[in-house]
Amino acid sequence: MRVLFVASECYPLIKTGGLADVVGALPVALDRVDVDARVLLPAYPEVLERAGKTDVVAKLPKLFGSNGRLLATALDDGTGIFLLDAPHLFDRPGNPYLGPDGKDWPDNHLRFAALSWVAAEIGLGKAGSLGKTGDLGWHPDLIHAHDWQAGLVPAYLYYAEASLPVVMTIHNLAFQGVFPATTLKALRLPQASFTMDGLEYFGQVSFLKAGLVYADLLTTVSPTYAREITTPAAGMGMDGVLRARRRDLIGIVNGIDETVWNPDGDPALPAPYTARRLRSKILNKEALQDRFGLAPELHAPLFCVVSRLTEQKGLDLLLEVLPALIERGGQLVMLASGDAALETAFVQAARDHPGRVGIVLGYDEPLSHLMQAGSDAIIIPSRFEPCGLTQLYGLRYGTLPIVARVGGLADTVIDANEAALADGVATGFQFAPVTAEALAMALDRAFDLYDQPKAWMAVQKRAMGRKVGWSEPARTYHRLYRRLLDPIGSFLESA
Ligand code: ADP
Repeated sequence: MRVLFVASECYPLIKTGGLADVVGALPVALDRVDVDARVLLPAYPEVLERAGKTDVVAKLPKLFGSNGRLLATALDDGTGIFLLDAPHLFDRPGNPYLGPDGKDWPDNHLRFAALSWVAAEIGLGKAGSLGKTGDLGWHPDLIHAHDWQAGLVPAYLYYAEASLPVVMTIHNLAFQGVFPATTLKALRLPQASFTMDGLEYFGQVSFLKAGLVYADLLTTVSPTYAREITTPAAGMGMDGVLRARRRDLIGIVNGIDETVWNPDGDPALPAPYTARRLRSKILNKEALQDRFGLAPELHAPLFCVVSRLTEQKGLDLLLEVLPALIERGGQLVMLASGDAALETAFVQAARDHPGRVGIVLGYDEPLSHLMQAGSDAIIIPSRFEPCGLTQLYGLRYGTLPIVARVGGLADTVIDANEAALADGVATGFQFAPVTAEALAMALDRAFDLYDQPKAWMAVQKRAMGRKVGWSEPARTYHRLYRRLLDPIGSFLESA
């Protein structure tokens, strides 16, 4: 079975968030269940630099403003990659979506329409007509589109009257790709698509809505988020559309790449460790305290945050409870970037609490590994969280997650309440509602458990034993693909 992934990010070529991790790791896991999944990605400068040698496999004339090319390469892990090389759209520095002024590129609609267009052309088997170099020699049986940047893929296929199935995954409903109605023509979409049952969204064009309406099957990255987004409270204006497609909407929790996130073989760590050799974890704590200039108190509970700083992530709540955390003898390290006011507030907090709070602003992949290894707990107070990956890294590294009970956080962490502790199933701490008071109470419970080293260690070991890899989710995606490609066969098999 051949599947074309279409996405705007893919680790390790380009990453701004969890989407990249998923698109980078899932194809490898799918390969183990005999799915040949290849990724179509824009050729941003950073991607071209990291990709190394590429082959030109097609020419793409008149690609939304100028000519482009399709390049092919492979990642070290064997994943096949197609790169959409269109310098007029993608040869720009920095972040994939934002210009140097921090605002969306004004032609984002064309940039990601081009990505979806080329995906649809590959799907239609028009690779030969893409250019003089001839046929691609590889045709997908199905397209898996990720987030709004790939939302137009099923719309293009629908209006080309193609029967190629499309799975659309929502990684974060907050990003919807909404553009003025006047862009419709430039997007090469017919006027007929601009209705309530199509991609029209309050008088504008929504790429995400196109995906939600025209794709054959919708998935999102946890069962709880799949339910939440069908409600007005969490549906971000799309809940009606999603309710209408409730039967086609499936939540599948993300996995993590266990080769990249492995405390026993992680090149970013000074001291490798396992659930059996947990004592070595403390050497990483020592290194982390040192790196952040914290007091070298190995017995002080060390909390960490690795996050984007946005309203979604709820870190303003952490600011509120920080004095109490320090009062109880805790320490905090933070690696984050985003909202300027929050950045300033946390920098100030670090100044106010020397030796107790440390912050690094920016994006640093190796440091994020050291933080997962060296901390005792990771705090994730998100107001909403489709899946969340940092709590999964926390579980794998024996760094207990303290999470808001929303979305994928609710589905992946078992709260250390009395019953769960007694039954030996707890893996972290949950709190609800998402308020500073509830977070403070969860932190209190974490401090209490930390004061009982044996009980804490038992929870750590259980957390580290949780299955957080991609094998199970990959099998589920494979079943879904089969359901679309061979409905009768897969029904008979499951009966
Ligand atoms: P989201 O995709 O909403 O940002 P996720 O938890 O799904 O949240 O994924 C975030 C990913 O980005 C994780 O791999 C996390 O380790 C990484 N990350 C977030 N902020 C930083 C940072 N400042 N430096 C390094 N990695 C980061």
